[in-house]
Amino acid sequence: MAEAAKVIDEGRIQRNLEAGRGKSREEILACLKKAGEAKGLEPEEAAALLQVEDPDLRGEIFQAARGMKMKIYGKRLVLFAPLYLSNYCVNNCRYCGFRRDNRSIPRKRLSPGEIRNQVQELENLGHKRLLIECGESSLSDLDYVEEAIVTIYGTKSGNGEIRRVNVNIAATTVDHYRRLKAARIGTYQLFQETYHRATYEALHEGPKRDYERQILALDRAQEAGIDDVGLGVLFGLYDHKFEVLALLYHARHLEETCGVGPHTISVPRFRPAPGVDFRLPHPVSDEEFKKLIAVLRLSVPYTGMIISTRESAELRAEAFSLGISQTSAGSRTSPGGYGARGGEEGEMSAQFQTADHRSPDEVIRSICELGYLPSFCTACYRRGRTGKGFMDMAKPGDIQHLCGPNAVLTFKEYLLDYATEETRRVGEETLAHHLEEISTPGLKENTRGRIQEMEKGKRDLYF
Ligand code: SAM
Ligand code: SF4
Repeated sequence: MAEAAKVIDEGRIQRNLEAGRGKSREEILACLKKAGEAKGLEPEEAAALLQVEDPDLRGEIFQAARGMKMKIYGKRLVLFAPLYLSNYCVNNCRYCGFRRDNRSIPRKRLSPGEIRNQVQELENLGHKRLLIECGESSLSDLDYVEEAIVTIYGTKSGNGEIRRVNVNIAATTVDHYRRLKAARIGTYQLFQETYHRATYEALHEGPKRDYERQILALDRAQEAGIDDVGLGVLFGLYDHKFEVLALLYHARHLEETCGVGPHTISVPRFRPAPGVDFRLPHPVSDEEFKKLIAVLRLSVPYTGMIISTRESAELRAEAFSLGISQTSAGSRTSPGGYGARGGEEGEMSAQFQTADHRSPDEVIRSICELGYLPSFCTACYRRGRTGKGFMDMAKPGDIQHLCGPNAVLTFKEYLLDYATEETRRVGEETLAHHLEEISTPGLKENTRGRIQEMEKGKRDLYF
């Protein structure tokens, strides 16, 4: 209790929210002016922005968030896909299709051969980054996960390969996190689901019910040397304004104790799931959802933000402009869900229903049409630019000039190897435009030269 209370002081969050109410237009604009310097916001300031209801002022918040997204991330959007390994679970999280007591879904754990098939399916769609996920069970223990990671990195299909495996599995021990680090994972993500302790305990049953175990997991991961960690909340379980401030306090705690804040924040919203009869206690409207994304963008400008296919194509498009920097595409949320055989059976054993059912190629084309540049870049992680080292370079802007060229190069790979004719046509225009935008002397020519090498067959070129 004492340790968890150091991370989240619920009374303080409630006081911040109370104090943030009814701020004048001038005070809100002053907050946004400060946010514009990209130094982030105090939770008190974020509270004031979250309380804004006036449509004009809300427009100002969106405008500021759009400016911040452009300033730090430009037009890039990094793509990934989730890979569900197993849906066996000892926990009984009320909202989840994989919950122990859900007898209506077929249970499945992928064998090494099935993992290989799924990875090839994903590689043939152009993916280079995966996020592996599974329920908590002795059937998917750490030995199993380690073996799965070795299989994933070892599986190739044509020019396809997976270059970064991020992991979202149950909270575990420092020793186990050391093993994940040794397995060369990228980011370790763990969602708190809700930071409100009483709600957390009411909605969870099984080992995950231990609030302490969950909230201190990322400290343990950092202690084990995993320096890129990801936070998240399942929006809808409790008041979203409370959750946003709690995320900021959690981020601040990691920065103070581990020397670096979270690499990413994910913003999943609850979705219906097969066999789950759950009345969502605090639904978050689309307007509130967009505002919370904008406030997070302004509060922690250097933390990547992730949106999934839980959201519709329309909402995702708006979220990209307000601050999202990473997105999944073509996702299946059941073990074995990718490929022709994954189809119908997959729907029945899914963790939740997705809202964006487009193929990755369609998503990528629409990203281009919206004016963004799809990126499959994994360079920072592979060059050892992670954790504090990454942030120390990102904050003065020493990485951003490499991100553009790396996005262009990895997108070129996609266009050469995987794009449909229509996407290739739109994508080449996008590529040419963003190549021209590279402003660092020498880098533009260097990138152009590498593109020519890729056209002659070279792959995996990056800075
Ligand atoms: N089992 C691990 C855990 O719970 O930490 C691994 C991650 S679980 C497969 C991925 C995430 O899916 C959960 O952390 C939760 O936030 C989210 N999730 C579960 N049920 C959901 C639902 N019905 N709608 C949207 N997201 C859901
Ligand atoms: Fe299991 Fe995770 Fe689903 Fe909870 S959210 S039931 S721990 S898979």
